[in-house]
Amino acid sequence: MSQNPFRLDGRVAIVTGASKGIGASIAQIFAQNGAKVVVSSRKQDAVDEIAAEIVANGGEAFGIAAHVGDSQALQHLVNSTIEKYGRIDIIVNNAATNPVFGPLEESVDALEKIMQINVKAPLELAKMALPYLKEHQKGVIINVSSVEAFIATEGLGCYSVSKAALNMLTKSMAKEWGKYGIRANAICPGLIKTKFSEALWSNEAMLKYYLKQTPLGRIGEPEEIANLALFLASDASAYSTGGLFLADGGILQ
Ligand code: NAP
Repeated sequence: MSQNPFRLDGRVAIVTGASKGIGASIAQIFAQNGAKVVVSSRKQDAVDEIAAEIVANGGEAFGIAAHVGDSQALQHLVNSTIEKYGRIDIIVNNAATNPVFGPLEESVDALEKIMQINVKAPLELAKMALPYLKEHQKGVIINVSSVEAFIATEGLGCYSVSKAALNMLTKSMAKEWGKYGIRANAICPGLIKTKFSEALWSNEAMLKYYLKQTPLGRIGEPEEIANLALFLASDASAYSTGGLFLADGGILQ
């Protein structure tokens, strides 16, 4: 264990959905704390940009495009990481989709895609990385979930279903892979200021309603999720696995 238990020196992390928002912030904070980071999203130019920023700030990173719904792309992501850095210590399943905002009865056709991106892909990537995560007996999986896993919000039905499933997937990973020294935890953010949630925070009435229910009285910033991810990726959280960590300004209280 390094002297500062939050440091990630020598470790290699793959972060999906890392071209912007929460994922980009996680990639940057991991690199600032010594990790070699593989920055991934669907667009090569976008991940190259974040990787270049990290390198310009003295960190180590490179970008690999991968649509997480494409098994071959995920395998390429894992293989390229091994070719470049020779190991995988940390997987952050952060990419997600929410193609519908509307009544449940009109969301049936979208359910399969949502489950594929938000639930199947995290399991598939973890499975592909499993042999490498096992190698050093301290692999880490972080699944970026949501407060929507715990409450039903009108219009977000299928998304909530997928995040509830992701929470249980996290617990199952923790249960089955603890024997390999692998820890799996989920982060459940409330409203964070990113492109993904823009429809919510840019609507004045909706924002007002949301803030009224939030004890801290404000929405969150991507860095506030990334710092929690750093804790969960590092030895600072060595005895935590199967946890569902809220970062929601208190809205679920
Ligand atoms: P964001 O700013 O929109 O970023 C989403 C990232 O995912 C981008 O890098 C996007 O890049 C990538 N992406 C999207 N679909 C992908 C796919 N199929 N394959 C690979 N990459 C994909 O979103 P965010 O708010 O940071 O969200 C990150 C995570 O936080 C998600 O799991 C979301 O459910 C969760 N979350 C967010 C909030 C919030 O209020 N923002 C609240 C709770 C939970 P490309 O377009 O280049 O692929």
